[in-house]
Amino acid sequence: MSRTALITGITGQDGAYLAKLLLEKGYSVHGVVRRSSHSEVHDHRLRWIGVENDVQLHEGNLTDLSGLIRTVRDVKPDEVYNLAAQSFVKSSWQQPILTGQVTAIGVTNVLEAVRLEAPEARFYQASSSEMFGLIQEAQQSEKTPFYPRSPYAVAKLYGHWITVNYRESFGMHASSGILFNHESPLRGLEFVTRKVTDAAARIKLGLAPYVELGNLEAKRDWGHARDYVKAMWLMLQQSTPDDYVVATGKMFTVRELCRLAFSAVDLNYEDYVRVAEAHMRPAEVDVLLGDPKKASEQLGWTPETTFEQMIEEMVQADLARHKRNL
Ligand code: GDP
Repeated sequence: MSRTALITGITGQDGAYLAKLLLEKGYSVHGVVRRSSHSEVHDHRLRWIGVENDVQLHEGNLTDLSGLIRTVRDVKPDEVYNLAAQSFVKSSWQQPILTGQVTAIGVTNVLEAVRLEAPEARFYQASSSEMFGLIQEAQQSEKTPFYPRSPYAVAKLYGHWITVNYRESFGMHASSGILFNHESPLRGLEFVTRKVTDAAARIKLGLAPYVELGNLEAKRDWGHARDYVKAMWLMLQQSTPDDYVVATGKMFTVRELCRLAFSAVDLNYEDYVRVAEAHMRPAEVDVLLGDPKKASEQLGWTPETTFEQMIEEMVQADLARHKRNL
């Protein structure tokens, strides 16, 4: 019998890739979407990936428990993926309360709806490497202590622990994926990878003179979202729920990202990248590097796309998009 999945945050980058993966596996896929007066803007990722007519959308919000209960009752999911969040670190200093309401308490709302209406459903929580923040070990694993450095990371830490707690309190099949940064042509333009690949494309086409960035020396372990949603699905196929770090085990600086993206369009990044104070953060996460050993050994998961391949794919997608609009 076909299985049913419910995805919060289905219109985001990971939601689109996960919906596509689950549809290919024969799932019936449902998503929770925030009501908005310009829904076509929100649906663009589902269109880009070609699944907009194959998923069933339900209006709802992570802060609205009764709506979530009704949706879980109607959908009767076998698997629930909680990907919705206020997910941009920089905005979390601007909107710390909203970030806490959505990214932290929102997880409890989804867990409560599942516990009340579909207690046998398997639950995935999108946790984040930002929880490691001021790193306590050079390479971060499931055993590394956390030290969050932004309201976003503090909220994600709550979401992680409430997931662990519901597993231990109620025996729910609830797993937390501690995913390191993952990108794609569907990444929001506010994140540094996409900001840079989009800028390289626009500058190449004469549509922009330069790009302003913040800390060029920040280091991240960047993987491809298409690879990372496979790890989410694998976690829910295990007989016992658990927590897993999902990462590549390799890191690059923002400066190296710039070099790669601009060289993909035969430009020298040094001629076009300017550093602006406005893009610096009140508390920075200087370096993140994940240890994906447990995911590799227990889930049989390995990343397939290299950083270089991913940046090339993102630059080409941004070039094609801007050429269409020229
Ligand atoms: P994050 O790891 O979830 O915060 O992902 P981001 O893509 O937003 O940022 C990754 C790193 O790039 C952080 O250390 C930022 O400080 C750094 N960075 C440098 N310049 C920029 C910029 O202009 N925009 C963003 N978003 N990040 C930047």
